[in-house]
Parts: sequence; structure tokens; C-alpha cells
Amino acid sequence: MERKTVYIAGLGLIGASLALGIRRAHPEIEILGYNRSEESRRVALERGMVDLVTDDFAAFAPLADVIILAVPIKQTIAFIKELADLELKENVIISDAGSTKAEIVAAAEKYLQNKPVRFVGAHPMAGSHKTGAKAAHVTLFENAYYIFTPSNLTKPGTLEEMKDLLSGLHARFIQVDAAEHDRVTSQISHFPHILASSLMEQAATYSQEHELTQSFAAGGFRDMTRIAESEPGMWTSILLTNPQAILERLEDFKDQLDKVAAAIEAKDETAIWEFFDRGRQSRKQMEIHKRAGVDSFYDLFIEVPDEEDAILGILELLRGISVVNIRINEENREDINGILQITFKNHQDLEKSAKIVRENTDYLVSVD
Ligand code: NAD
Repeated sequence: MERKTVYIAGLGLIGASLALGIRRAHPEIEILGYNRSEESRRVALERGMVDLVTDDFAAFAPLADVIILAVPIKQTIAFIKELADLELKENVIISDAGSTKAEIVAAAEKYLQNKPVRFVGAHPMAGSHKTGAKAAHVTLFENAYYIFTPSNLTKPGTLEEMKDLLSGLHARFIQVDAAEHDRVTSQISHFPHILASSLMEQAATYSQEHELTQSFAAGGFRDMTRIAESEPGMWTSILLTNPQAILERLEDFKDQLDKVAAAIEAKDETAIWEFFDRGRQSRKQMEIHKRAGVDSFYDLFIEVPDEEDAILGILELLRGISVVNIRINEENREDINGILQITFKNHQDLEKSAKIVRENTDYLVSVD
């Protein structure tokens, strides 16, 4: 059988991590890569993520059985247009990785309509603030949703082929209509990024008049604003390619704030209490509390004193148990213990670890 060739255009964090996942399950597949800058081309070659690289997008496209566009959204659309004029292999699958889907799927349906190609939109839902092939990792998409948004060019069998090709990512494949994808992500991803940056902007302005703002900001503020450190270019394209859904979320949120303001003005204790209680209850229901994986919430919270080797001692006790993530939720008062948060892969490891720490220390231990 002829060796299958996959062409990944854009060897950034996402494209290079996809290459690693494809390699893991299918070492026999030839992977070709395009990248504009020399740095990621070099890293991808040196680390064996790809077999050959180019800085000329059109050069490798005719050789591919599968083409994955992993460049910014605007460039993804430009490449789709360019593919329409190239001599491609019959029945080639073209896919992408863009964070918004409706405009990309519409572009594919417009420009590729009369070509013997298949197209399926895709959004691998994991990432980080890091960029470039040097930041790529084979585990990036483990347990993350890999969302396929079919088009009228997604012929039967396309999704199955893509799922097999990407099986080494260990992601959770799901299929959603592109417009629905953009609506849901506007609520859980795009709008929260706007909120985080707005909150930072407000606090930065406020701190000019109230300099203690900087010092008092602690865990809650940090959790709310972490994503304000994201890459501005990517978020600008997301807002520009999903305006309607995002504007709807903004309007809806203004109403939400007005309701809270009205309850405060009216000193309506019940309404305020119920507002916080609804938030607490709905957060507990969310899947983020149940899901395994990097963003898993099998969390153990341990109040550790500010003593030498306290954290090392706990990790020593848990030697042999697989830990997904560790963080220290430090308070900003020296006389308050820091909270060590350890995330496990599953419920058994969490319970086992809680038991070990309780039996071997007198630290306050709680399970999420
Ligand atoms: P990245 O900055 O690590 O890589 C972007 C790649 O695109 C690089 O290879 C860069 O050289 C190339 N590129 C940028 N502008 C270009 C242009 N004008 N012409 C040709 N190539 C160009 O970014 P990334 O995180 O890998 O993002 C790639 C895609 O994946 C984007 O569409 C983004 O929306 C999507 N995505 C990102 C994340 C995330 O959190 N980082 C998550 C899911 C999907």
C-alpha cells in the first residue's frame, strides 16, 4: 500500500502538537510541514515532528492525502482560497484548527465547491499562551474535546478517517454544527476572555488612584484574570470572526449586571444570596468538575504551613501516584497557610492520596 502523506500548514503550537499525535499512532505516515518562519521549521525537523518542511505553502499541497491548516483564522481562509487553484490529489481531506468555525466552513463551501476534495472544519479545544513548535507537546489534546464541524464537502467516511489519523492525540472527538460551535464557544470561551481583559483594564486604571489595588489582589482576582495574558492576535481574530454571538453575550451580561445592581440598591438580601447560590450550584453541576485530563477537577486541597520542605514532604508521601497538576494558591497574608492544590487523573487516586495525607500529617485536607 502506498504510504499516506499528511501536510500540516502551520507548525505552531497547535500544528506541531497535531504532528506529534499523528506520529504517535501512525509512525508510518509521512508528515510534511509548512511554516512561514524558519525557527519552527527547524524545531519541527530537528525533533522529528515532520519529515520535510517548506516555506512555500503551494509546494507540498499536491502531494498530500490530508491537509491540515493550523494557521490564524484569516490565513486559514486565504489558504483555502489558494487550494482552490492548486492541482490536489483526488478526494484529499482538507481540515483546519481555527478557533471559530462558521466563516472557515463558509469559505470552504464557497471556494472548494467544484473540486474533488473533502472538507471538514475542526477545532482542537486545548492550547496555552505559548506559541511555536518549541511549545508543542504530544499530550496537549489528551482528554480535550476535538470538535469537528462538517460542511457540505464532508463526504461519508471523512470523519472516520480523521478520527483514525488523530487517534494518537487521545482526544474526545465530537461533531457539532459550525454555527452552534461558535455560539457555545462565545459563551464559554470568547466572552470570558473579554471579561478577564476588561477586569484587568478596570483594575489597572483604578490602581493609578488606589495603589493598594496591586497589593490586595489575591487568589480570586488571579483566577478571574489568568486568561487576560492570552495572545492578543489570536483573540482579535476570534472576536472579528464571531461578532454576532459575542455581542449577544455582551448584551445579555449587561442585563445580568443590571439585575445585580438593582438587588444591591434595593438591599434585597434574599435576591443577592440567591444570586450567589445559583452561581455556586451551577458551577458544581458543570462538566469541568467531572472531567478527567489536564483540566480535570479531581482536586485535593491541603493547607500547608509556610515551613521548609512541607510541600516536598507531601509529594514524597504520594510517590508513585500519577499527578496531573500541582499549584499553590498562596494567600497574600504571611500568617495564613498556603493551599496546595493537587490534581489527579481519577477519583481513586484522589481518595487514596487524601487518605495518605490525612494519616501521615496533621494538615487540613479537603477534597473538591
Ligand atoms: P502559533 O502562533 O503557535 O502558530 C501559528 C502558526 O501560523 C505559525 O506556524 C505561524 O508561522 C503561522 N502564521 C501566522 N501568520 C501567518 C501568515 N500570515 N501566513 C502564514 N503563516 C502564518 O498559534 P497556534 O496556537 O498554533 O494557532 C494556530 C491556529 O489554531 C489558530 O487558527 C488558532 O485560532 C487555533 N487554535 C489555537 C489554540 C490556542 O489556544 N493556542 C487552541 C485551539 C485552536
